[in-house]
Amino acid sequence: MKKTSTRLADGRELIYYDVRDDVVRDAADRRPLDRTVTTSEIRRDPLLGDSVAIASHRQGRTYHPPADECPLCPSEGDRLSEIPDSSYDVVVFENRFPSLAGDSGRCEVVCFTSDHDQSFADLTEEQAGLVLEAWTDRTAELSHLDSVEQVFCFENRGAEIGVTLGHPHGQIYAYPFTTPRTALMLRSLAEHKEQTGGRNLFADVVDKELAEGSRVVLEGEHWVAFVPYAAHWPYEVHLYPKRQVPDLLALDDAARTEFPQVYLELLRRFDRIFGEDQPATPYIAAWHQAPFGTLDAFDGVTRDDFALHLELFTIRRTSGKLKFLAGSESGMSVFINDVPPEAAAARLREVASK
Ligand SMILES: [Zn+2]
Repeated sequence: MKKTSTRLADGRELIYYDVRDDVVRDAADRRPLDRTVTTSEIRRDPLLGDSVAIASHRQGRTYHPPADECPLCPSEGDRLSEIPDSSYDVVVFENRFPSLAGDSGRCEVVCFTSDHDQSFADLTEEQAGLVLEAWTDRTAELSHLDSVEQVFCFENRGAEIGVTLGHPHGQIYAYPFTTPRTALMLRSLAEHKEQTGGRNLFADVVDKELAEGSRVVLEGEHWVAFVPYAAHWPYEVHLYPKRQVPDLLALDDAARTEFPQVYLELLRRFDRIFGEDQPATPYIAAWHQAPFGTLDAFDGVTRDDFALHLELFTIRRTSGKLKFLAGSESGMSVFINDVPPEAAAARLREVASK
């Protein structure tokens, strides 16, 4: 893998990740761009104790551009995009319209392939492996920034999820604090450790799913994927490396090598849940990693207690119908799930690749 870092015309960083070591990436950004002005501000909600990023500059961001004006395709002739070169394997750059910036963290875009019409599920194993390398490298680099406490790599896929660019891409949010969801997990970890004389909650959850089996979707030598016992979403899968590690940096070579095969199979099954004739399944894929800030607030919990895992879920509950976060979910944070987790797991096993 070769990594080449450069700057866009407005000063934002862009990094090429290439499979081949002999690729030269020296194309300059020829666009007359002004320096971006970001006004994002983190406000804390005094009642809930969580944080909201107020980012008014995002209202003007690129919204469903025609395919020939895609900012994530490589530049070609006079058609200048966010990527100066005329080709790329995987590329990461700072978001022009970030929700988090400066002292409030950082937002990056990850382009999975230069091919506008593919999706992650269409990637080769080699290409998916390169994306994993890019996620890992960005987690390492971002964790060194003073303003960053937690690194979140994710993909929103499909217009139903609110994706405004069709090009296959994901994002990385580097937060200046430990996110509320991770804090909840850390609190549960601390409680479980205390109540069980030191046992690890993640390890116990994974062991239980493997022993019970009814919600296991697929199992490799180094990874296991299951629908959680109390799944929030109609189709939701959690993917864990069998050897528990706190973050992407700690994955060993065996797990890295097997990841593309397992993850691509999961994504391909997701696209078959509702039948081959249905439009591509909208989904969110979210990597959960241990935060890099202090864990003092979580009694006796260390970074190594956290378990890296990916949560993949769709908001579609049946053909042509979406699960909306309505009164109970949005008003009270109580999810109502119409699809029993065991039935969801059975369906995800049924649509395995032949
Ligand atoms: Zn494109």
